[in-house]
Amino acid sequence: MTETTRFVGFEPTDEQRQIGDAAREIAEREIAPHIAAWDKAHTFPRALYAKLTEAGLMGMLVPESNGGIEADYVAYALAIEELARVDAGTAVTVSVHSMICNAIARLGSNEQKQQWLELLAAGDVIAGFGLTESDAGSDAAAIRATARRDGDDWILNGRKQWCTNGGYSGVVMAMFRSGGPGAKGISAFLVDSSLPGIVVERTTEKLGIHTSNTVDLAFDDVRCPASALLGNEGTGLTQALTALTSGRIGIAAQATGILSACLDASIAFARERVAFGKPIAAHEGISFKIARMATDLDAARLLVYRAAALADAGRPFVVEASKAKLFASTAARVHASEAVQIHGGYGYTTEFPVERYYRDAKITEIYEGTSEIQQLVIARGMLGRFD
Ligand SMILES: Cc1cc2nc3c(=O)[nH]c(=O)nc-3n(C[C@H](O)[C@H](O)[C@H](O)COP(=O)(O)OP(=O)(O)OC[C@H]3O[C@@H](n4cnc5c(N)ncnc54)[C@H](O)[C@@H]3O)c2cc1C
Repeated sequence: MTETTRFVGFEPTDEQRQIGDAAREIAEREIAPHIAAWDKAHTFPRALYAKLTEAGLMGMLVPESNGGIEADYVAYALAIEELARVDAGTAVTVSVHSMICNAIARLGSNEQKQQWLELLAAGDVIAGFGLTESDAGSDAAAIRATARRDGDDWILNGRKQWCTNGGYSGVVMAMFRSGGPGAKGISAFLVDSSLPGIVVERTTEKLGIHTSNTVDLAFDDVRCPASALLGNEGTGLTQALTALTSGRIGIAAQATGILSACLDASIAFARERVAFGKPIAAHEGISFKIARMATDLDAARLLVYRAAALADAGRPFVVEASKAKLFASTAARVHASEAVQIHGGYGYTTEFPVERYYRDAKITEIYEGTSEIQQLVIARGMLGRFD
C-alpha cells in the first residue's frame, strides 16, 4: 500500500463547506424549479451562469488576483456535487469551464491570463474544450486538425467533435497538430470563438444532460495570433491530458451528485409508496437496494474528496482521480437504474426525476476518459507500462 493510498486528509474546512453550501442553495433556488422543463426543451440556460457567478461558482479555479474565488479542489468537488444533485448538465458546464480556467491559470502567459480569466470568472465568457475528433477520442494522439504557422499568426483547420459548451463558448482550449505525427506534434491554443472561420456545424442530440450544450466546431482557415498558443509548441497533448486529470475530479463529483439525488429520491419514494399493506421501504428487497446505494455514495465521496485533497496538497493524484471517476460513474449508472426500479412504473415516467438521473448517469462513464481508459491509467499506476 502506497502512502498516497493511505492519505486521509479530507475533512472539509469551513470555507470549503461554505462553497458547497452556496452551490446547494443556488441549485435549489435557481435550477430545481426549472430543471424538468429545461431538460424537456433541451435548454442551455445561459442566464443561469450570471447567477452562479454571484456565488463565485464560475471563478472557482481562478486566482483571486484575476477576479476568481481561488477555491481549492475539495471545495470545487463539493460545489460540483451539489450542482449535479439538482442538474448534472449544469454541473458539467461548470466543470469543463473550470477545467479551462485552471489550465489558463497554471499555464497561460500573463497576456492570456489578463485576456481571459476575469471574463471567465465573471461568467461573461464560458470556456469550451476541443480535443476529440470524429476519428480520435480515447486515442487523442491521433487528432488530425492542423495548426500552420503563417508569419506571426497560426492558421487553424479541422473539426472538433462534441465540444461541451461549444455553442456558447467565448474561448475554446483546442488542440491542433502543429508538427509531425504522434503526441509531440500537438499544440494547445486558446481560440477566441468569435474569430472568422469558426462555425458551429452541429448541435448533438443526446440521451441525457440536456441542459449541457454539445456541438461540433468547424475551423476553416482560422487566423489566430501567435499569442493564442498555450504553453510551448508540441506540448498540447500533455497539457490536455493534465487538464483532463483534474477534470476527472469534476466528473467524479458530478457522478456522486447524481448518485446522491438517486438516494434522496429513492428514500422519499420508498417511505411513501405502499404495497402489500406496508411502505415498500419495509420490504427487505427495497431497503437493501437503498443500503447499497448509501454505501456506494459514501465510498464515491471518499474517493472524490481524497483525489481532491491530494491535488490540493500538491501530491500525485492521477491514479486517485481515475479511481474516483471509475467508481463514482459506475455507481451512478448502477444506482440510477436501481432508483428507477424502486419507483416501479412511476420511475419510467417523467413524473419523477429518476428517469432523468438514469439518462444523465451514463455519460459519466464516457467523457473525460471512458471507464476502460480509467482502468488503463490505474493499471499503469500499479503495474507500470509495457509499451
Ligand atoms: C456528451 C459528450 C460531451 C463531450 N464533451 C467533450 C468535450 O468537451 N471536449 C472533447 O474534446 N471531447 C468531448 N467528448 C468526447 C469524449 O471525451 C469521448 O467520447 C471519449 O473520450 C471517448 O472517445 P470516443 O467516443 O471516440 O470512443 P473510442 O475512443 O472510439 O472508444 C470506443 C470504445 O472503445 C474503448 N477503448 C478505446 N481504446 C481502448 C483501449 N486502449 N483499451 C480498452 N478499451 C478501449 C472505449 O473505452 C470505448 O468503450 C464528449 C463526448 C460526449 C458524448
